Amino acid sequence: MAKKTNNEEHCSFCGRPSSQAGMLLSGINGYICQFCSDQAHQIFKQEGAHKGQVEIKDSDIPTPASIKEFLDKYVIGQDAAKKVLSVAVYNHYKRLKYNSEHGDKESNEVEIEKSNIILVGETGTGKTLLARTIARLLKVPFCIADATTLTEAGYVGDDVENVLVRLLQAANYDVPSCERGIVFIDEIDKIARKSENTSITRDVSGEGVQQALLKLLEGALVSVPPEGGRKHPEQKLITINTRNILFICGGAFDGIERTIASRLNSNVIGFKGDENRNTLDRDNMLQYVQPMDLKKFGLIPELVGRFPVLTALQPLDREALRRILTEPKNALVKQYQALFHMDGIELTFAPEALDLIVDKAVKYKLGARGLRSIMESIMTDMMFDLPNQKKGSTFTITAAMAEEKMKMEL
Ligand code: ADP
Repeated sequence: MAKKTNNEEHCSFCGRPSSQAGMLLSGINGYICQFCSDQAHQIFKQEGAHKGQVEIKDSDIPTPASIKEFLDKYVIGQDAAKKVLSVAVYNHYKRLKYNSEHGDKESNEVEIEKSNIILVGETGTGKTLLARTIARLLKVPFCIADATTLTEAGYVGDDVENVLVRLLQAANYDVPSCERGIVFIDEIDKIARKSENTSITRDVSGEGVQQALLKLLEGALVSVPPEGGRKHPEQKLITINTRNILFICGGAFDGIERTIASRLNSNVIGFKGDENRNTLDRDNMLQYVQPMDLKKFGLIPELVGRFPVLTALQPLDREALRRILTEPKNALVKQYQALFHMDGIELTFAPEALDLIVDKAVKYKLGARGLRSIMESIMTDMMFDLPNQKKGSTFTITAAMAEEKMKMEL
């Protein structure tokens, strides 16, 4: 029965008066407020969905070649990483299909295991871009989390479970859909153990977070507060099974080249050693990265073991940077041309101007990330004057103009 005090209606579920609950809907014998009806909706959705089967159709599954072709439109180079990602995503779908057909039971003859992935590569080489691009293509929910913001439960920062809250939000709070999603965790190297020393002081941002992350990766049932934030006793929690969630991690692992080099050097000492040593590509040691190097870097062995696929991204050379400026679907040059076009002006870049921009990006060692800020410094003044320019004219950025602007800014 709806309670009435001081002539004010109250929600029959939570007891809030209409002055606090906003609108109340009336039923035969009572009232319900927006908060309670939202919560009821979530509960029905969750319970109902748990009973239903999630079906994956063959037509939903992109082939590895088509995934790679899509990635090629946005990401320059990185063929090895693209192939690994394409296969991993393809297998993720097949695994979901297998489990939906065979009932996801422990008793299945073959259990197809997850292939979580670690991408190792210098900053600005396209790790996040690869993950974001994959997300455009996928029909499963996808989210990006930053490992640097995570802490163990009880410390200031995000609980590790909040990673799943993001995925749940990406899935529009549809739990079964969330349970098939893909999570990209960036900067995984930043939660490496700081030292070998396991002293009594707690390593808040390192090993503890790795342990907490392990729980998610192991395919556990994890309860999360639907709105994120800290769990508290009265809160309604949503349970998510992480068994089918694919995890992709990215990290720069600064300095890991030294670990790789010393491992390779000690391996090749001895008979025929010099021959092998000469075939090593010393400028790009990352390509030889092995799980043991990640352990040495400070990831705990259990965590490394949960990522069976390990691949490295190439450092971007001049040629790659030059292509990044002009070729991808959303290349910087194309973006500026589109902006100018909206003001009725055709924009072109002299090839020498682009070369200068690439030179500068190489010099500042910011990878492709540097290209954008250099471009901005060249284009800002011109964009400021853009509305005053005559419509229908053409505008060319010459090497001299680029040089002049870059001198002023840097
Ligand atoms: P990180 O490896 O540090 O995650 P990002 O993927 O965030 O680097 O790259 C930063 C920016 O540089 C991207 O938004 C993109 O514009 C550009 N970029 C980096 N690598 C590539 C690449 N291989 N192809 C095209 N653009 C790239």
